[in-house]
Amino acid sequence: MKNYHMLVVPHLFLKFKSCHSAWPESVIASQAGVQPALAASAPSGAEASRGCLRGTPSQYLSVHPPVVLPANGPGAFPGEWQGIIPSMFEIVFLGTSASAPSAKRGLSAQIVKHDEFRFLIDCGEGTQRQILQSGIGFRNLKNIFVTHGHLDHILGLAGLLSTFMRWETIEELNIYSGKWALDRIHDLLYGVVLRGGQAAMLLNLHEVKPGVFFETNDFTVTAFPVFHRGSDSLGFKFEERSHRPFLPEKAEALGVPFGPIRRDLVDGKTVTLEDGRKVGPEDVLGPLKPGVRMVYVGDAGTTEDLVAVCQDADALVIESTYLEEEAGMAKQFSHLTAKMAAELAAKANVRQLVLTHLSRRYREKDVLAEARAVFPTVHVARDFDVYSFKQEG
Ligand SMILES: [Zn+2]
Ligand SMILES: [Zn+2]
Repeated sequence: MKNYHMLVVPHLFLKFKSCHSAWPESVIASQAGVQPALAASAPSGAEASRGCLRGTPSQYLSVHPPVVLPANGPGAFPGEWQGIIPSMFEIVFLGTSASAPSAKRGLSAQIVKHDEFRFLIDCGEGTQRQILQSGIGFRNLKNIFVTHGHLDHILGLAGLLSTFMRWETIEELNIYSGKWALDRIHDLLYGVVLRGGQAAMLLNLHEVKPGVFFETNDFTVTAFPVFHRGSDSLGFKFEERSHRPFLPEKAEALGVPFGPIRRDLVDGKTVTLEDGRKVGPEDVLGPLKPGVRMVYVGDAGTTEDLVAVCQDADALVIESTYLEEEAGMAKQFSHLTAKMAAELAAKANVRQLVLTHLSRRYREKDVLAEARAVFPTVHVARDFDVYSFKQEG
């Protein structure tokens, strides 16, 4: 039962469809940017499996400086490169309910996609089945960003790890979060799932602090603090780097063949064609364009502190647990009303607003109406909705 819709909006094209061994014996600093000194200070597997990591922040892997991966390296563009640089973030909603699931909505989980990258944000109970049902599958799903450690955002990690341990193709799993959440995740995975045993893959827990913590040649992910009851919550900003778009029609006119030669031009190199003519980047690249920016905010109790980070974003995805009629409860439990989320979108001048983390007590249309009265380009996410944010042209 999948519906597929496509919207063209100013400046933006949007489509959506409903449709360790305990802690590893020696933590391997396998990725660029992981500080070997900290990795070396990690405790032995035996120590870790007794949960001794709790309250010892320096023993998690640090991601400062950030993990840097070559997006343009081998494998970045499967098949023959056709001269088109994907410029887009896509978010697939796997669970859109707050606190507890409903018949139609699972608990918090979503996957952000960019090129070949897949980032699972939060992992509520039942997430692995939602992943399978969405058709995305587990391929490339080795990076999980967790906003905070409340149970409706992390319990699915236990089941996911259990499945991954039998899944030979998953060789590495990286979980990125703030310290408070990481402690609870550590208890869940090492205390309940592994119980002193060995994970079948390399399992890395990365402590994230505000700032850029993941980047490639094409985009960065920045963590920022979010106020939410009893947790050092983080939001995540996905930002493409500014770039000069490749103009295929110009390449065509100049007789530039498909393949690596176009990649060289995008990389700023002058190339020589078979007939001896030279073609430079300025011949086939357009003017510099800012990249797409998508801000993801999980549970939040206030919005004033989020205006700056959301400013002029192409898309804001944020919780909307309550309606104004229960603004008191929203405040008490440190959540937002639909109106508060919409006011943030308006104040920060974002282009598109997508609401998620809905309470079971409200009708979707009431949530939409309350937000739309303040901010017209708003959508309420359903499980399995897919939103693609990209620039036109
Ligand atoms: Zn929640
Ligand atoms: Zn929460």
